[in-house]
Amino acid sequence: MSKSNILIIEDEPSIADNIKLALERESYAVTWVGTIEAADEAMESNTYNLIVLDIGLPDGSGFDFCQNIRTKSDVPVIILTARNSEIDKIVGLEIGADDYMTKPFSPRELVARVRAILRRTVRVIPTQTYSTVQNQAGVDISVDEEAFRIDINQSQLPLSPHEFRIFICLLKSPGRVYSRSQLLDKAWDEPHAAMERTVDAHIKSLRAKIKKACEKDLIRTHRGFGYSFSES
Ligand code: CA
Repeated sequence: MSKSNILIIEDEPSIADNIKLALERESYAVTWVGTIEAADEAMESNTYNLIVLDIGLPDGSGFDFCQNIRTKSDVPVIILTARNSEIDKIVGLEIGADDYMTKPFSPRELVARVRAILRRTVRVIPTQTYSTVQNQAGVDISVDEEAFRIDINQSQLPLSPHEFRIFICLLKSPGRVYSRSQLLDKAWDEPHAAMERTVDAHIKSLRAKIKKACEKDLIRTHRGFGYSFSES
């Protein structure tokens, strides 16, 4: 298997060095740039499997850069934010990041996220009927996509079609954060006709049904980003 190429866009050398070392220790091929201009150049001549992106860069904002990437590529992006106020800025913004970390963070944690994202990027997702066994929280979840049926602890969840599609989407990539608009795209035939608040309403109802079935909250809210399926 070939090495994954990772691009770090971070202007603070001490942080970049730490991340680079931690990733190289895991045998990733790492390129580090400190500006958006250098990142643009790097991306023109190379293909990357994942980008680690700082928000506050000397020649612009990582937010804008991320939105720009999304117009041309699906490459996974992990955002590094320096302050909670930056997370606030993410609220309502559809920047298309796959994950985010608030500084200070441990390089080991970042490496774990990178590994998780790369694993699910290359994983082939079955499109046919499949079932998952027991998750880490000890909850049995089985899925029959063709029958539009999800069972928790052997009893069928009474799901609406939208709830079913949202849950399937979250389940297939445990831990992956989906924004409201991504969930709209996955679960609605005409996403533009629906409002993002509709997703919140369906998540609320889906959550209540799951809790009733297993007394656990299997959906995690990521403030400003969206929702994910939580395995523990
Ligand atoms: Ca910075």
